[in-house]
Amino acid sequence: MPVKRAEKTPMPVRDAQLRAHDFQEVNEGYSALHASFEAERCLRCQDPVCVEGCPVNIPIPEFIHAIASGDMPGAARILRGANPLPSICGRVCPQESQCESECHMVKRFNPVAIGHLERYVADWERTQPISAKANITRKEKIAVIGAGPSGLVCAGELARLGYAVTIYEALHAPGGVLRYGIPEFRLPKAVLDWEIDVLKSMGVEIVCNVVIGRTVPLQDLFERMGYAAVFIGTGAGLPQFLGIPGENLNGVMSANEFLTRMNLMGGYKFPENDTPVKVGKRFAVIGAGNTAMDAVRSSLRMGAEEAYIVYRRSQKEMGARVEEYHHAIEEGVQFQWLTNPLEVIGDADGWVTGLKCQKMKLGEPDASGRARPIPIEGSEFVLPVENVVLAIGTTPNPLLTRTTSGLLTNKKGCLVADEQTGLTSKTLVFAGGDAVTGAATVILAAGAGKRSAEAIHQALQRAPATAH
Ligand code: FAD
Ligand code: SF4
Repeated sequence: MPVKRAEKTPMPVRDAQLRAHDFQEVNEGYSALHASFEAERCLRCQDPVCVEGCPVNIPIPEFIHAIASGDMPGAARILRGANPLPSICGRVCPQESQCESECHMVKRFNPVAIGHLERYVADWERTQPISAKANITRKEKIAVIGAGPSGLVCAGELARLGYAVTIYEALHAPGGVLRYGIPEFRLPKAVLDWEIDVLKSMGVEIVCNVVIGRTVPLQDLFERMGYAAVFIGTGAGLPQFLGIPGENLNGVMSANEFLTRMNLMGGYKFPENDTPVKVGKRFAVIGAGNTAMDAVRSSLRMGAEEAYIVYRRSQKEMGARVEEYHHAIEEGVQFQWLTNPLEVIGDADGWVTGLKCQKMKLGEPDASGRARPIPIEGSEFVLPVENVVLAIGTTPNPLLTRTTSGLLTNKKGCLVADEQTGLTSKTLVFAGGDAVTGAATVILAAGAGKRSAEAIHQALQRAPATAH
């Protein structure tokens, strides 16, 4: 076996002091030289376990080999055949806990930078003309509810199979969390727009500003509008709150509201865009997942001078991607680990002035398998801040399930659906992504959309356009 370089080829990044004050993308992407250098590190293993670590089983060694051979059209074809959103997943997938954690190189060295190479290929593809074409050959039409990654991928796969597909999206622009949650500095909207243009060129129709369950009942999709099957990809956009005193003060927001104002409504371009977002000098975000990291890094870009993550467990238990954590440290975010918020404190006019917290220590694992945080008596203190943003998790919005009879949910409010096919408790109604799993990842949502598209196709082959 040839001796391989131990270290990953580093991703070029913009200077931390500069990038912390604007919304341009942080990672600059590999050059052709970086990519071929990194592709040469791959061992082309006989048993490429990296493929097992990828939720959509991208043939990783094949696409990396194509890069190493200079065959970019081939690399793009292999990648897109398995993953319909490569330019997005190459940027936001938690590779360190998926494909890269399985790479054989991990045993002795750094893993191959599979994610960076995926992004490199997808970015190359975006410089080429869109070659996808509409090829609607079947009589049945399908409705998809929600234009997040699960809905977009399901629609794309169905269009590829020859179906006419319409996506109904509640917001005024498609993309789901990819548009309203993940900021421009991690996922430029131009990248998302390009992926959506590919779908449109395949004949997928996207109708925005339609809330299924409110504007149009789900049953009408079948009975009045003639769809043969429905896929639900409505995500988990309902924020959770802590229920501590002071949560109603001015300056407290859910991370979803803060990020939606910034990303979807363009609040960071105020007054050019008319959505003001008030950020004080000191900004605290409660939670330590990707959402928390996006909110706290956005606050710096909006002018906060001190930005804090407040998390009741330790760094070991945080949910954020490692890269986002490192970028946040470089940009000056301060981390209050083992710190539990007790109360938001405000002034006489109802504006936030501080966050009362208590220090914690870790005990035995709890039901989630993570060490249980235990309060330390007498350790209370007040963190002086003007904003408190909660990023402690989300659940599915109950609007659709409450207005649709026979659509079963579990006790967490997630749709009950077959793990493999996504079939729900209603005939010819399928579901996938966060609406089924609860808040998870882009690639899991994309994978679910892909599997449901195949299941819808199979179901319609067996019983074309029947009852529901
Ligand atoms: P969503 O992306 O939530 O899309 C659902 C869509 O359905 C939305 O557009 C919504 O408006 C629409 N909708 C809802 N109800 C209706 C209705 N009744 N009628 C019509 N439309 C409706 N994952 C990663 O892998 N890596 C990351 O770095 C990462 N960062 C994240 C950062 C943030 C801030 C957040 C919030 C999440 C992040 N995630 C990340 C998680 C990831 O984005 C989600 O798991 C993924 O987007 C789920 O996709 P989805 O299609 O199930 O739902
Ligand atoms: Fe290449 Fe690592 Fe996959 Fe082996 S496990 S084929 S070295 S990416």
